Amino acid sequence: MKYKILLKQHIGAPCTSTVKEGQRVKRGALIASPTGLGAPIHSPFSGTVDSVSDEAIFIEADETQSEEYEKISGENVTDLLAASGAVGMGGAGFPTHIKCNVDLKGGYILVNAAECEPLLGHNIAQLESNLEKTLEGLKILMKHCNAAEGIFAIKAKHEKAVAILDKALKDEKSIKYHLLPDLYPMGEERAVVREVLGKLLLPTDLPSAADAVVINAETVLRVAEAVNDKRPVITKNVSVAGKLKKGKDTQVFMNVPIGTTVGRLIEMAGGIDGEYGEIIMGGPFTGHSVDPDTPITKTTGGIIVTDAFEDLSGKRVGLLLCACGGNEERMREIAGRMNGTVGLIQKCKQAVEVKGTLKCENPGNCPGQAEKCLNFKKDGCTDILIGNCSDCTNTVMGSAPKLGLTVHHQTDHVMDTVGHERMRHLTKSKQVQADITSSGDYEMTRIIEGGMLKIRIKEGKNIHIELPC
Ligand code: SF4
Repeated sequence: MKYKILLKQHIGAPCTSTVKEGQRVKRGALIASPTGLGAPIHSPFSGTVDSVSDEAIFIEADETQSEEYEKISGENVTDLLAASGAVGMGGAGFPTHIKCNVDLKGGYILVNAAECEPLLGHNIAQLESNLEKTLEGLKILMKHCNAAEGIFAIKAKHEKAVAILDKALKDEKSIKYHLLPDLYPMGEERAVVREVLGKLLLPTDLPSAADAVVINAETVLRVAEAVNDKRPVITKNVSVAGKLKKGKDTQVFMNVPIGTTVGRLIEMAGGIDGEYGEIIMGGPFTGHSVDPDTPITKTTGGIIVTDAFEDLSGKRVGLLLCACGGNEERMREIAGRMNGTVGLIQKCKQAVEVKGTLKCENPGNCPGQAEKCLNFKKDGCTDILIGNCSDCTNTVMGSAPKLGLTVHHQTDHVMDTVGHERMRHLTKSKQVQADITSSGDYEMTRIIEGGMLKIRIKEGKNIHIELPC
């Protein structure tokens, strides 16, 4: 079978092929090198190079594949990480050897196991099935980056994985876990720092400003494989979900060879169940639409087959963009597939542009959306399509319906497919009265479903709070 290995699997420019048509390659052999910022690419198969284009290397794989691979070499951890081709496998694709080439001076390695996007499950499945290897990777990184603590950031709802962590970390003095609430986007890098370390970074800051590196759980596993097993990155863990004959529960496939097509993975998951709307590569918020013959890369996390889109019959639809949701192109695409006419386009006021992309000033903490909804109304929109985080979606619902605007979320067709509740109100609103009698800086804590809502009150007297609990 012929496989297409893309030359761009990371941020930066595409790699350059180091192989020629007709050349024999072994599984794990170097086939492409970066031209600047990037990471090398290795063959996921033993076989023969069929052809090379500007976009990809095509490999005719041998019928029989062994588990063996060509080993990488390097003098130290940085060399081995660079040689392995490891990049941020949560989707960012930033080269790991550059990200981790930092002296944290006793700071923190934060393992991002938030599995933030709905429906994805491979990071949690990895912790449940192979925590040992992930711990190896974490210890390598703690030593390499001079970090005093390693902390797994994981949502409290993943009870089985949390129980496994709890047991495994009992005797670990410098490794622990931190429970996150079940909100989107808790996996955003600065949201992880804020939740775990209590520091709110600027959109332009890197986690190193809090003496931390935030690194995806699968990337940590690949670090252990690179340093201890001298294994290059040639496989990826993937979640497949949606309109599938085997049912709507997410299926996880571990160590899928890079270059495997989306269609093949869907077949492995039982095949598509009837007519469908689109196939998303990635998660419902940040993923994009792909064809079945698209190959997976080092950053592919999910493949989701959806139901058909709702039909807006040409209605005027405003777009509200979130820094952690679909970009304008993706939101326009969804509006088009819904047969809507795009009207006013606005972004959440906490979404600021940093180097050409939107970043949130305080991920998942809503600044209020009433003004945006009024603008949509003035523009003549009857409907709005939003890509907002859980909290902001909640506040859109506080004003848009009162103005006669029908709200659609970019994840609606995905949530409908699997029978999940749509992103709307977090839960029913409830009035809470609190009398604060002494002044000062203190904390009032209230448990809400799926997590903990903490409210910091500076100077208090008789405050009235409406909580989404
Ligand atoms: S506050 Fe705004 S920009 Fe930030 S995550 Fe929520 S919707 Fe997105």
